[in-house]
Amino acid sequence: MPGFFDTPVEYLKGVGPQRAALLNKELKIFTYADLIQHYPHRYEDRTKFYLIKELNDEMSYVQIKGKVLKKELVGSGFKKRLVAQFADASGEIELVWFQGFNWVNEKIKPAQEYVVFGKPVRYGSRYNIAHPELDPISVSNEKGGGIYPIYPLTEKLRTRHIDSKAISKLIRELLTMAKDKIRETLPSALLHEFSFTDKKTALLNIHFPQNYELLAHAQQRLKFEELFYIQLRLLKLKLVRQEKSKGQIFNDPALLTEFYKNHLPFQLTDAQKKVIKEIYADLKSGKQMNRLLQGDVGSGKTIVAFICILIANGSAAQCALMAPTEILAQQHFQNLKKYADKMQISIALLTGSTKKSERKNIHAALQDGSLRILIGTHALLEEEVQFKNLGLAIIDEQHRFGVAQRSRLWEKNETYMPHVLVMTATPIPRTLAMTLYGDLDISIIDQLPAGRKPIKTIHKFDANRLQVNGFIREQIAAGRQIYVVYPLIEESEKLDLKDLMDGYESICRAFPDIAVSILHGKMKSEAKDFEMNRFVKGETNIMVATTVIEVGVDVPNASVMIIENSERFGLSQLHQLRGRVGRGAEQSYCILMTDYKLSAEAKIRIQTMVKTNNGFEIAETDLKLRGPGDLMGTQQSGVLDLLIADLGKDGEVLKTARDHAQKILENDPDLSKAENRVIKTQIESLRSSSMNWSRIS
Ligand code: ADP
Ligand code: MG
Repeated sequence: MPGFFDTPVEYLKGVGPQRAALLNKELKIFTYADLIQHYPHRYEDRTKFYLIKELNDEMSYVQIKGKVLKKELVGSGFKKRLVAQFADASGEIELVWFQGFNWVNEKIKPAQEYVVFGKPVRYGSRYNIAHPELDPISVSNEKGGGIYPIYPLTEKLRTRHIDSKAISKLIRELLTMAKDKIRETLPSALLHEFSFTDKKTALLNIHFPQNYELLAHAQQRLKFEELFYIQLRLLKLKLVRQEKSKGQIFNDPALLTEFYKNHLPFQLTDAQKKVIKEIYADLKSGKQMNRLLQGDVGSGKTIVAFICILIANGSAAQCALMAPTEILAQQHFQNLKKYADKMQISIALLTGSTKKSERKNIHAALQDGSLRILIGTHALLEEEVQFKNLGLAIIDEQHRFGVAQRSRLWEKNETYMPHVLVMTATPIPRTLAMTLYGDLDISIIDQLPAGRKPIKTIHKFDANRLQVNGFIREQIAAGRQIYVVYPLIEESEKLDLKDLMDGYESICRAFPDIAVSILHGKMKSEAKDFEMNRFVKGETNIMVATTVIEVGVDVPNASVMIIENSERFGLSQLHQLRGRVGRGAEQSYCILMTDYKLSAEAKIRIQTMVKTNNGFEIAETDLKLRGPGDLMGTQQSGVLDLLIADLGKDGEVLKTARDHAQKILENDPDLSKAENRVIKTQIESLRSSSMNWSRIS
């Protein structure tokens, strides 16, 4: 039976079918529960009055009391506006209206005292408020008002007169009706431990706080609750899988020992050794592995992948590695083939462009077990690809596969699920990893191979191009190769392609004696391979490309990465691109080209890149700048649709919530103890509703 909170929002007094349709469409508010959990994203403080002389640049909205000294209509036509000098005992400011000024002009009376509310902006030594709220002083406002909720809205809602005031009125109505129906959703032990506010009070205070202390309490509790239930679900998923899914036991080290003894091309770093140990422990355990391997570009994930493959092969299991693009799959294939050939282990590549006859051979060899390693793109997921005994699936993810796609690969073994290793070269801040990959164990390679010289990153303005060209020439003369990358943003693909082509031509003109390659997404895959191979073999010295080269491409001799219009790239993308160089013994450089005009945020991005090579540090800054929703590849991930918590800021809360969820599950895996009944009830009601997991019902 649907409960009170499942009631369609249409039935709330003051809503009705038309407004309900708008709320559905614009804010995804369908039920009472959705509405009550449409939390304010900020608050307006009408509790106090400021003196004009107290105003400073850090203030957002302020409330002032005073009189209008003078008003006049200035400008004409398009630029016509009403300007009023407004003063209190401490000073003067300007109020400006660009629209609706005739009405305001008539309303303003010279002797009348007013309450003004708005956002002050400084021009020179004076402040100015555009389109302030202006109300004659009265009994109801002379002492100031409260802390008012401001809700996320859309333009469309505003034009239909659904503003923050309207929403808050609806929520007030709903809260009055709902008062006795709100049940506690956190167990009393947690409420106690953290002195959390109860649910009902929290909901009341998040919408209508009496003061900032109560608001803070409400926020703390609701953020914790949201993150707690997300982590509980992820950890539960992991637990169930660990219990249910037995894994094949790979404990024959013969192949590994041989490889270490005779073919290891370099000393492994301590970090590589550490993650191999973690993975080996999983593979021996009898439980199915689900592990995320995080390592910055160039940290040496490929050899780790190969060593895992050897461990599985040692126990006669087959291995698959899936990459997000054809170029990357090829590169993996070439790299791994070198090792596999030495060990005399069969390996093949399967992608969308594999010929039919070859495809047939591969299918057959997989089924009779003679093919031991298969590398490919999502072509691996096709129905006809059947293994004799798939023991290990490695997914080089770069965020491009979803969870659903991942799981299709691990359904390829009927008796046992294969062990799964997800590799990613995008360093993700811990808080984000815990949420995006909260159901996986995490291994991190946090060290680059020894002897690497840190890449030098330099910011240059477009006006310095001649100097940059001179540098390119020097580097090529010293035997190095150069990447020049142009942004490619889908909305203006044509324009971008033109940028790229213009850039290519001007480079050809500037370096008539030097062989230049070009690579972009619109090229046929044979043409791409051809160009890429020429560059890999050193037949060309400059590679002009779009971001298609971003993923995984490895040319150790390339030592300079020039990024054009670098202000148009996000931080993680810049870092990924920079990771294409610095792979050989030579000093490498990354040159960030920009226009003179830069936004404040672009400046921070460029400065961050110049300052540090550490991917995790960069990812943290990125998270702070953009918020989690915009981080690379996380856009479609529903887990990040949070109601109140902010993964960029609430990392500590997240950790605490996860630790407590973990403890509770360790203690009571089925949540069947009386003390956890509240949790169980909440999970069940969350599951039965189609709502976000953390939502009440
Ligand atoms: P990524 O983690 O970005 O996939 P790769 O596996 O491609 O990095 O490794 C980058 C480069 O470093 C390769 O040329 C690889 O051979 C080399 N490499 C990896 N591990 C080591 C090591 N321990 N010592 C020296 N070079 C290494
Ligand atoms: Mg790689």
